[in-house]
Amino acid sequence: MITINENYLKLQASYLFSDIAKRVASFQQAHPDRDIIRLGIGDVTRALPAACIEALHAATDEMAADASFRGYGPEQGYGFLREAIAENDFRARGADVNADEIFVSDGAKCDTGNIQEIFSTTIKIAIPDPVYPVYLDTNVMAGRTGIFADGRYQGLCYLDSVRENNYVPRLPSEAVDLIYLCFPNNPTGSTISKEQLRTWVDYARENRAVILFDAAYEAFIRDESLPRSIYEVEGAREVAIEFRSYSKTAGFTGTRCAYTVVPKECVAYDSQGNRQLLHPLWNRRHCTKFNGVSYPIQKAAAAVYSEAGKKQVRELTDYYLRNAALIKKEITALGFDSVGGDNAPYIWIDGQGRDSWEFFDMLLNKASVVCTPGSGFGRCGQGYIRLSAFNSYENVQKAMARIKQALL
Ligand code: PLP
Repeated sequence: MITINENYLKLQASYLFSDIAKRVASFQQAHPDRDIIRLGIGDVTRALPAACIEALHAATDEMAADASFRGYGPEQGYGFLREAIAENDFRARGADVNADEIFVSDGAKCDTGNIQEIFSTTIKIAIPDPVYPVYLDTNVMAGRTGIFADGRYQGLCYLDSVRENNYVPRLPSEAVDLIYLCFPNNPTGSTISKEQLRTWVDYARENRAVILFDAAYEAFIRDESLPRSIYEVEGAREVAIEFRSYSKTAGFTGTRCAYTVVPKECVAYDSQGNRQLLHPLWNRRHCTKFNGVSYPIQKAAAAVYSEAGKKQVRELTDYYLRNAALIKKEITALGFDSVGGDNAPYIWIDGQGRDSWEFFDMLLNKASVVCTPGSGFGRCGQGYIRLSAFNSYENVQKAMARIKQALL
């Protein structure tokens, strides 16, 4: 008899974005004349940088001639992209990362979801709350949790990210083996200082743990004192894996390209307590299950590092940060506490005692603005909403004027 992986039955159906879509659709039906502004979902709205489009066209033309055509590429990514990444994203900032430690992929979602496969199913996992749900669900699927009760999976160590700790979780009081951290954070938009990150690296070294550092929003950092990579912290190479993505950096959400860094010294242990390198394990997994990103897309990603590409990416992220600054300014003027928006495209707003969905409904009904209810990201998100800066400046201006009107 064929049986299923019953861990899947423990998963909580993610109603968040479908519930939002349903409420928005029924509101639209009831008020066909109302123009809805969406500041909910974290998807970019602006076109790819011109340098990327140019590279994409040129690479597509190469595929059109036998002499320059390319078939299967290296699963880990082409050398031209891995070299450009190592040089520009790491060595230029004093972080020691080599091209052969970079694994190019089609998304940080896939990578942050798949990486847990190389670790034992019996390890203790620490996961932030609120959280990007992929970290949580993939560990549930793998059987690293108990059942879901009182809004949480049993067997996990939740790292509360709340106002009291400025939305940067404290070290766990129990010993954990695998730690998920994401900065700049989705959904809160909070950032971590180098000193705070060092405490996590030290913890991982002392406890023989590994940190999975998701830096998908690194390109939004403007405060030069903030770390862009965990490898800017001494000692991180032995205990940290980092994830990056071109999705929000360069508008690649529909184009798909990302990468993961697994340093050659990064280790975990076998059941006998012997040190085992993680680089060959991830390399094996990547080569067995992934065919590599297409040549034209890697060429487009490499164009991010050209002089023109760097300038255009900066303009793109500046555009969204200008939206974020406006949201932050207006929401603060209305008397709300919030975090994020300075070095991140998200603003996490404390609803002053309102339930997350109540706040959502109020903004939809009175302002025709869509946000994301914070409770959808975990128990600590209850009472918050997330506003995203991914829209046009004009729409953000309009949305904030309407929110102001609705709240007065
Ligand atoms: N990590 C975080 C924290 C995200 O918010 C997202 C996307 O929203 C991703 C990873 C996924 O990135 P990608 O589009 O590269 O799969």
